[in-house]
Amino acid sequence: MNPFVSKTKIVATIGPASFSASVQRRLMAAGVDGFRLNLSHGDHEEHAGVVASLRKISAEMGRPVAIVVDLPGPKMRLGKVPKPITVRRGAKVRFVPEGVSRPGPGIFLPHEISGLAQGLRPGSIIFIGDGMMQFKVKSIQGEIVETEAMVAGVVRSNKGVNIPGYTAPSGVLTDADKRGIAFAVKNKADVICISFVGGPEDMLAARALLPQSGKYRPCLLAKIERRQAVAHLDGILAVSDAVMVARGDLGIELPIEEIPGLQKDIIHRANMAAKPVIVATQMMLSMVDNARPTRAEVTDVANAILDGADAIMFSEETAIGHDPVAVVRIAKKIARQTERRLVKSGAIALEVRAAIRSEDSIDDLVSSAACDVLENRTVDLAITPTATGTTARRIARLRPRPWIVAITDNPTVRNILALSSGVFPLEVPSVAITDFELAKRIKDAGLLRPGTRRLVITSGTLLGVAGTTNSLKIIDVF
Ligand code: PEP
Repeated sequence: MNPFVSKTKIVATIGPASFSASVQRRLMAAGVDGFRLNLSHGDHEEHAGVVASLRKISAEMGRPVAIVVDLPGPKMRLGKVPKPITVRRGAKVRFVPEGVSRPGPGIFLPHEISGLAQGLRPGSIIFIGDGMMQFKVKSIQGEIVETEAMVAGVVRSNKGVNIPGYTAPSGVLTDADKRGIAFAVKNKADVICISFVGGPEDMLAARALLPQSGKYRPCLLAKIERRQAVAHLDGILAVSDAVMVARGDLGIELPIEEIPGLQKDIIHRANMAAKPVIVATQMMLSMVDNARPTRAEVTDVANAILDGADAIMFSEETAIGHDPVAVVRIAKKIARQTERRLVKSGAIALEVRAAIRSEDSIDDLVSSAACDVLENRTVDLAITPTATGTTARRIARLRPRPWIVAITDNPTVRNILALSSGVFPLEVPSVAITDFELAKRIKDAGLLRPGTRRLVITSGTLLGVAGTTNSLKIIDVF
């Protein structure tokens, strides 16, 4: 399999449509770079089985992939509804805490949200099921919230509840999240996604639960899906290793028409910080049932890439869709086509370079200089030996034409780098090796394509030591 098919990375959510090892193998062959386990569903035992299966296939295929564990966060949910309730527009619907007896006839929706009545005011809007149902609060009687349905629809058990601006009384890390972090660490997940982050303190609280020493350092990803997260984005980026534009909840927590602009801002700021950024939700939702995406979905995927996304993520498409592999194949085709345009325009490189020119760190100077050299047509590949992945990511954010092969001796760093645009990670026993040995390893791994003429290699005074990269070498391939 050609490792250099498209630079944009693909994350596929695992679900009933992709539990089987044969589908997982086909997904990897089609070009999936990260697999997301959504801890809102299933139990840890089931997820551990998926991790084992994916690791086995990845080793057999020699294809680095990131295992992405997505924590549920303080997602608010309805309680049990004995059978689906059909609600007409204008109907009076009362929200009651689960277990509280229902005062009189009418439609009652049980919920499991502590302090809900205290957090609402007349006029507040309650969204159910990704916003498909909407209820306007009319009055609050003790624990009972009286509302009016704004649209008609059907309400089912355990549907997600969103209330824009509503802040959960406790921090974002629930007990289930803490157990989820322990699960992720035990299974050496590469990426851990923190849901409903409000500010940097939520990421620091999660980081405190990770191992503080040793080689295993998972990537801590902040899902940007609340107004507070947008307001504190730079602070969150400073203490996170990656971010996700989680458009599902973002499109409810904020007015939906703000999503395109927010997506561009979040991506640009993540690019500047050299942190991988994933765009998620409804990228090709119609392919859950259909053989082809809509024109609007194709354009959406392309626009995320043009905005500077490192990766795009599929949820229902690969978890419950009728043909997850077709989704990935089509996404790869869109990515390949779009990347040509991106390289030609150089738009992201110009924007990010203009912003980082003002910084004088050696890292920024080396990554800018590498990209200057990589613009030359005679240079075909960049090689970055890296202890933490930072050098590779700093060059990748400038979206150079050639690929970047990131060499590391740390399997978690390798897998995390699988999610950075234009980076192909390669694990070696030690990065403290000569340029000659380095070039040989790359050749042996099949990464030197016929016609490769010249390589750029970044290096540091201390081979393999994080934060010491300070020089560039240009070598001819014979
Ligand atoms: C989202 O909200 O877009 C998202 C990816 O998170 P979840 O699927 O957990 O709602």
